[in-house]
Amino acid sequence: MFSYRHGFHAGNHADVLKHLALLATLRHLTQKETPLWVVDTHAGAGLYRLDGDYAGTSGEAAEGLLKLVADLPPPGSPGEQALAPALVDYLQLVRSFNRQGQWTVYPGSPFVAQATLRQEARDKLRLFELHPSDAKALAGNIAQLDAGRQVAVAREDGFEALKALLPPPSRRALVLIDPSYEIKSDYARVPGVLKDALQRFATGTYMVWYPVIPRPEAHELPRRLKTLANQARKPWLHATLAIGQDDSPVEPGTVRRPGLTASGIFVLNPPHTLKAALQAALPQVLERLGRGRGKGQVVEAGG
Ligand code: SAM
Repeated sequence: MFSYRHGFHAGNHADVLKHLALLATLRHLTQKETPLWVVDTHAGAGLYRLDGDYAGTSGEAAEGLLKLVADLPPPGSPGEQALAPALVDYLQLVRSFNRQGQWTVYPGSPFVAQATLRQEARDKLRLFELHPSDAKALAGNIAQLDAGRQVAVAREDGFEALKALLPPPSRRALVLIDPSYEIKSDYARVPGVLKDALQRFATGTYMVWYPVIPRPEAHELPRRLKTLANQARKPWLHATLAIGQDDSPVEPGTVRRPGLTASGIFVLNPPHTLKAALQAALPQVLERLGRGRGKGQVVEAGG
């Protein structure tokens, strides 16, 4: 059984990149009246406590969301107005899950997506999660919403389950593919699943998250995805956020835990507004989260 639990990583810099981009994408896709299907193949638990055992132990949110919101200009102030709209939107969404002045609850991708769905447009959200505890937590969190048939949770392999959902009845969908890459085969499975998905439903929007780590498979994944998109003659967008090394002095007797310092998202058939939205937001995110050597952000597009 997998040991990865997203609770340890909730609200870290990788979640900031992924959820900011996810929200900006969904904002655009929900402007059209036609029903939108959102499929989250690797959904996690849905909601996380940043002051609980998991996040508290890892401390990752301290280098992500919590650092981003430290000294945040008050809502509606000129300082906030200077922030990129996609960043303000993301921060407002996270704030809506919290009591005023607190940042203790973090919404994962199912709740970022659910917040943008329209009842009247009959949008649908389909969530898959394999880990028994996280699948149970997710089902419980979603049940609180009383969303009826708009949202469905299944403890199934999201890679496999996706096939049966494509194409969706309304012929409009966003698919988020966000594996934990705990097993090496995930790196190969992602392009395979995407290729199959494109054959079933060529006009869907597909978003893949991946870690930037010194492993050949991780290094090659964005290259493979670009090749796939170019061969299919589909537009794509690729964005990375690297917070860089922590070069601050270490207290004697303490050991610094090496953690993930960078990640990327690859979007196939992105909304035409996404590039500009990320080009405005990511430098501001980096300004707040960037540390030492290796920090940077990239937004590139092709196809
Ligand atoms: N998408 C979530 C978010 O942004 O809030 C985080 C997901 S986390 C990175 C990856 C999740 O995928 C883990 O909870 C893990 O248990 C689950 N998982 C791993 N393999 C899976 C599979 N084949 N199908 C569905 N879920 C899987």
